[in-house]
Amino acid sequence: MRGDDAQSGAAFELIAFVTRHLACHSCGTGYSAEDVQVTQHHHEQWLLRATCPTCTAQRIIEAYDGPPYEHLESPDAIPPLPPLTAQDVREWRVFLRQFTGDLKALLSVS
Ligand SMILES: [Zn+2]
Repeated sequence: MRGDDAQSGAAFELIAFVTRHLACHSCGTGYSAEDVQVTQHHHEQWLLRATCPTCTAQRIIEAYDGPPYEHLESPDAIPPLPPLTAQDVREWRVFLRQFTGDLKALLSVS
């Protein structure tokens, strides 16, 4: 892993989040840390690739050090976003099924 300790810490936390909250779309198997790799890190944006240990299906996970809207100067500056897809809904269903926190935990920045 490249970068300084803070970057390594952020990567560790993101990978831990994936292993705790996400599972394979194809077969539902959970990920362990060695199944998740950081493929790209640019400013606050991270891209991770998770490979299912059971069926080898891969998924790309986009993550941010903090909610992206925190970096916008005003609500008017929110860029147009693509409509939610069926895959987005499936990912959230899997995530929320396993999530044990409340809305504050869901939206908080650690
Ligand atoms: Zn799988």
